[in-house]
Amino acid sequence: MSSHTYSHEVLLAYLAEQLPSERMATIEQSLRDSEPLRRVLAALARERDQGGFTVGEVWRRERLSCPTRSQLGSFLLGALDEGPQEYVRFHLETVGCRVCGANLEDLQQATAAAPEKQRRRRKYFDSSAGYLRRDS
Ligand SMILES: [Zn+2]
Repeated sequence: MSSHTYSHEVLLAYLAEQLPSERMATIEQSLRDSEPLRRVLAALARERDQGGFTVGEVWRRERLSCPTRSQLGSFLLGALDEGPQEYVRFHLETVGCRVCGANLEDLQQATAAAPEKQRRRRKYFDSSAGYLRRDS
């Protein structure tokens, strides 16, 4: 990560301390090395604190909020609409939310112990689980 380019979503997640610790550390290192990046982050923090976001920025910020546990369950089942499904995927994979990651793992274990009629779906769960755990 030598280019020091992060999306605003990732930087906002960094400010909210919602990133996995390794990624937090990587960004901290980048911040030490890069004056321009520090300026970008400072500007984002200022806008956030002053509530001065544009509609688009508010929307992005909203996207960082955690889905509910039942939404995560639906995500596992592939039962969400396309938009929410993408949102949860973004939240887990791009933001890398640790809270939701732990929740998801817990749900997966509960699923593994689920009755026979749900077994059929587990192939889908297993492939999703591998995908979601990619960078943990
Ligand atoms: Zn979350």
